[in-house]
Amino acid sequence: MAKKALNEAERKMEELVSLCRRRGFIFQSSLIYGGINSCWDYGPLGVELKNNIRRYWWKVMTQERDDIEGLDASIIMHPRVWEASGHVSSFTDPLVDCKRCKHRFRGDELDGENCPDCGGELTDSRQFNLMFKTFIGPVEEDAAVVYLRPETAQGIYVNFLNVMGPSRQKIPFGIAQIGKAFRNEITPGNFVFRMREFEQMEMQYFVRPETDDEWFEYWKEKRMQWYLDMGIRKEKLRYHEHGPNELAHYARRAFDIEYEFPFGWKELEGIHNRTDFDLSRHQEYSGKDLSYFDQELNRRYVPYIIETSAGVDRTLLTCLVDAYDVENPGQKDERTVLRLSPKIAPVKAAILPLVNRDGMPEIARKITDELRPHLRIFYDSGGSVGRRYRRQDEAGTPFGITVDSQTLQDETVTLRERDSMQQIRLNISTLKEELLKRTAM
Ligand code: ATP
Repeated sequence: MAKKALNEAERKMEELVSLCRRRGFIFQSSLIYGGINSCWDYGPLGVELKNNIRRYWWKVMTQERDDIEGLDASIIMHPRVWEASGHVSSFTDPLVDCKRCKHRFRGDELDGENCPDCGGELTDSRQFNLMFKTFIGPVEEDAAVVYLRPETAQGIYVNFLNVMGPSRQKIPFGIAQIGKAFRNEITPGNFVFRMREFEQMEMQYFVRPETDDEWFEYWKEKRMQWYLDMGIRKEKLRYHEHGPNELAHYARRAFDIEYEFPFGWKELEGIHNRTDFDLSRHQEYSGKDLSYFDQELNRRYVPYIIETSAGVDRTLLTCLVDAYDVENPGQKDERTVLRLSPKIAPVKAAILPLVNRDGMPEIARKITDELRPHLRIFYDSGGSVGRRYRRQDEAGTPFGITVDSQTLQDETVTLRERDSMQQIRLNISTLKEELLKRTAM
């Protein structure tokens, strides 16, 4: 039973990966050279989806609030940052090699004593640092070593005072950032779930030390709600609290938001109570005072930090997995549909002339031109209308607008809804408003 379920799940993942390639969501990087393991490129639909996910996070985390400011810090930072953060000494995974087949594993992911691929003898595990190293400037010497950031958070901590001053924020307040991060993962995989180059959406919320528990609860709830508001199925989401052995060196408490992927329940986002660890360490290593004077309390302290740390790529994979559906498989009316929330769908509406004559394409073109400045839309006149609907269903386009013979008489069009396939008639003059309402974030 368990085996069958696994095969089913693997098949679903394979179908999704193939749909992503076929429809231009995601390609393997450098494919004409045979690809490069764990690096992926986002195609025309993928980049729209990714932009929409980022935009939705940014809107909820910054635009809708007056207590969170945005930041875009550089990827390469002073190397001392990573000493202060603990990454140089402890951002490691245990690496184990098979002496026979030479395959590599993460020691903490192995079940038995021997190689899971060939049964061969394994080496002892050694600690492998996941940070990518490079050199700054033309000389490749130890003094010039820098790292590609393995998380965006540190850029926020070192800018804590820079942001607080000009924005005139007082504690509690937060700083949000979206950006690339790099980890030389030992075992990347599961499509864009674990990559070596990926993107994070992180928010660090600075609070009074004694209020950390209440803010932690607040952000735990808020972040779960974000996934629900994006239409992710509730039964596929859960919290996982880190036990004492799982807690990172900086965390007092940590919850993951997990999603049930075809390959199991996995972390989507981490919510961490990082205490005053980060600011205290940066104070110590930089020699700069990063404490805060709280006028209300008439007291100086190093703020505590509640962190919410999500992956853009992992969220995108979650949205795709959750949305992917094949109706009536194997039958004549089989339909593959991506039930993406209209908020984040790459294309919001397809404009289709029923036939390529009688002035229908001209009207459809005119509607397209009118809507284009407001929404991402797609004009499609190729093939039967049924086939054109199916193509849009697969791309996750929530609405289809068809110009037919009735349009020529009364200036109405049909609006077809992707999930229910129901159609209503609307006057062309109300289309823009209707679509903006239905796709609003
Ligand atoms: P994991 O246990 O899966 O390695 P982590 O606990 O190291 O993850 P964090 O350091 O908390 O992850 O990173 C925060 C978020 O960044 C993760 O929840 C995930 O969404 C994303 N993320 C981390 N590593 C990767 C990766 N290699 N590829 C894609 N996304 C990642």
